[in-house]
Amino acid sequence: MKEIKIFCPGTIANISCGFDVMGVALDSVGDEMVIKKVATKGVKITELTGQHLPKDTHLNVAGVAGLALLAESDYDGGFEIKIHKKIKAGSGIGSSAASSSGAVWGMNKLLGNPFSKLQLVKFAMEGERLASGVAHADNVAPALFGGFTLIRSYEPLDIVQIPSPSQLFATVIHPQIEIKTSDSRKILKTSLSLEDGIKQWGNVGGLVAGLFMDDYDLISRSLVDHIVEPIRSMLIPGFDKIKSSAIESGALGCGISGSGPSIFALSQGKENAEKVRHSMKTVYQKIGIEYDVHVSPINIEGIKVI
Ligand code: ADP
Repeated sequence: MKEIKIFCPGTIANISCGFDVMGVALDSVGDEMVIKKVATKGVKITELTGQHLPKDTHLNVAGVAGLALLAESDYDGGFEIKIHKKIKAGSGIGSSAASSSGAVWGMNKLLGNPFSKLQLVKFAMEGERLASGVAHADNVAPALFGGFTLIRSYEPLDIVQIPSPSQLFATVIHPQIEIKTSDSRKILKTSLSLEDGIKQWGNVGGLVAGLFMDDYDLISRSLVDHIVEPIRSMLIPGFDKIKSSAIESGALGCGISGSGPSIFALSQGKENAEKVRHSMKTVYQKIGIEYDVHVSPINIEGIKVI
């Protein structure tokens, strides 16, 4: 096998209470990539459609992540990559992570899978370092593992896969404004009160337990963020209205997707997720903000060959 075409899912990082440690992969939102094994050493991005992004290997997350893999590999050749972006950069649904994890997943597959998924996460994190200045794994982990993931520890990297209840659907609305991950990190406080910490880790534990037990009520009670959302939501127009209308329409919970500006809601059943979609878009139509909105099942396999 010399060439593969793959689907690289969009991902929701943080999931309200799990700042920097939790993420989930989407099924109906994602990029496509074509990865080809070639004799020439290195990584070359030969085509990039859908978004205006740099094709230079060192400026594109796919190139940087790919080079991180090659540096650890004894393979003597290189790779050419075509990227077809469907996820907008800076949307908060893991645009950079889709490319960095897609590149290393595809390269690994063409090499006969010498690296574990955990190693691939480490390579893809180098792409994330380029995109946001921080080598975070909360988008690349779910893109590579699928479903929900928990980063129990960064040092050493320890990733836990969490099952997804079968009736869980995500609704994601993207207001057409751009917030850079690096900017939305700058406004965060660097310390937190013990009181907020206690509330937050109670909810992270509750969310993980709820996902394991298929307990939709527990999931709903746990989708609360006491630390980041109160600050970051100020950057997102109409956030409070979108959130309250999503909850009124039956969402289990609603919060900021990654660093925003996308807003996600989780619902039990597709019908509820569609009601939530309708209520969210009605809010933006009233305020006069352009948006994209998607309803998606949870993607439990992650990146896949198409
Ligand atoms: P998101 O959270 O949606 O990934 P970020 O702001 O974290 O958005 O990342 C987007 C940044 O990464 C932009 O500055 C963009 O230029 C850069 N970037 C480099 N290569 C890519 C790529 N292949 N896909 C998406 N973004 C890329």
